[in-house]
Amino acid sequence: MAEAHHVVVVGAGFGGLEAVHRLARAPVRITIVDRRNHHLFQPLLYQAATASLAPSEIAWPIRHLFRRRPDVATLLASVESIDKQAHELRLDDGSTVHYDTLVLATGARHAYFGHDDWEPFAPGLKTLEDATTIRGRILLAFEEAEREPDEQKRPALMTFVIVGAGPTGVELAGAIAELARATLPAEFRHINTHDARIVLIEAGPRVLPAFAEDLSAYAKDSLERLGVEVVLGQPVMECNADGVVFGGKPLAAATIIWAAGVQSSPVAHWLDAPADKAGRLKVEPDLTVPGHKEIFAIGDAAIVLRPDGRPVPGIAPAAKQEGAHVAGVIRARLRGSPAPPPFRYKHQGDLATIGKRRAIIDFGWIKLKGAIAWWLWGLAHIYFLIGVRNRLSVALNWLWIYARDQRGARLITWWGDEVEGTAPFPREERRRM
Ligand SMILES: Cc1cc2nc3c(=O)[nH]c(=O)nc-3n(C[C@H](O)[C@H](O)[C@H](O)COP(=O)(O)OP(=O)(O)OC[C@H]3O[C@@H](n4cnc5c(N)ncnc54)[C@H](O)[C@@H]3O)c2cc1C
Repeated sequence: MAEAHHVVVVGAGFGGLEAVHRLARAPVRITIVDRRNHHLFQPLLYQAATASLAPSEIAWPIRHLFRRRPDVATLLASVESIDKQAHELRLDDGSTVHYDTLVLATGARHAYFGHDDWEPFAPGLKTLEDATTIRGRILLAFEEAEREPDEQKRPALMTFVIVGAGPTGVELAGAIAELARATLPAEFRHINTHDARIVLIEAGPRVLPAFAEDLSAYAKDSLERLGVEVVLGQPVMECNADGVVFGGKPLAAATIIWAAGVQSSPVAHWLDAPADKAGRLKVEPDLTVPGHKEIFAIGDAAIVLRPDGRPVPGIAPAAKQEGAHVAGVIRARLRGSPAPPPFRYKHQGDLATIGKRRAIIDFGWIKLKGAIAWWLWGLAHIYFLIGVRNRLSVALNWLWIYARDQRGARLITWWGDEVEGTAPFPREERRRM
């Protein structure tokens, strides 16, 4: 008997997982290839980076998610190249995987606009290792300030710079401010954690540019009420062991977090296919790779244009809708039915939180801000988490933080530093300051 059509999905992020879910009971066998053993709920990653949630609350082992799907196999491996003619993926151990249909959903990473040498000083936030590295640096900065006898050196240790005021930068800035002003004050004896400076630097004219101007202004005002210094219209010119340079002046800071710019994973390079400046592969309206109907690219790895020429945003709902569309095309092909109409993105709205009881929501037809938006933001995120245990655990943690301002996941570990591909921790450089 001939083997079932083999669909290989590379990347178990939002797009890849949705494609696999939507192919349930289709006449296919599926192999998921991911270089991590877990699916990560990136929208709450900033909470793992700021000690509100533990990494295990926002990530799930991929195998576990498909334990009741005998049609799905999972491989923990990194794809290194693709042979389009032979229909084969080459993995990091040199082995190959043959596919009949390939879905590339490998996402994106942060980009330093040609300054990759800044990464050791200003790690970005994309993986659990990034989150634990950032969490370690934030907490260690307070520890070092507590031990620092020289008062001249303390301000730099207690200065936290976040570069980029998109949702991640805004959420990080708000969370660090709450950590310093609400969670930590009673626990230190030699420093006043209220003195911490949290500086959010944005090259553009406003924070959260994807939102309407009034919501963006509300977010800026809320940040400033939390004690965050918001600097607009200033590109960062340099990140180094001493801090950052912007507006022609240096600012000494022990902790810098990079929340600006994304670069797609190298799918276009693997396929020698056209891409935009951010490396996103340009796909056809059915999300296939030009000239290769058997290969799809979705989510942050692809650029899909809307009828008005604007790109589909790089957010989780877009990746999920694309994953669902691809599953529909594969099903139609296997049935021998006409292809579904081209992919159409439906924007459901934008949400961002700034801190406790402060969030903004733009559904297009209604805009909300303040406490109501914050509760809705929380409910929406709990709803989209996978599994009852995680939903309960996150909800309980948030209630605890809400009531007591205590953040339980305040561990300093060096795990992030030991993982290949993550920023090394420049402890020696910092000691020199
Ligand atoms: C900090 C942060 C906060 C965010 N907040 C929000 C938010 O609030 N709301 C929202 O809608 N969106 C948010 N996003 C964006 C959203 O997470 C992405 O748009 C979404 O994850 C894209 O889904 P994807 O399937 O394309 O890729 P991803 O979800 O990134 O998944 C890619 C997968 O591919 C795997 N992979 C990569 N390269 C390889 C390889 N070579 N071999 C094997 N596997 C590989 C990765 O391990 C990963 O599992 C946020 C992103 C970040 C980083």
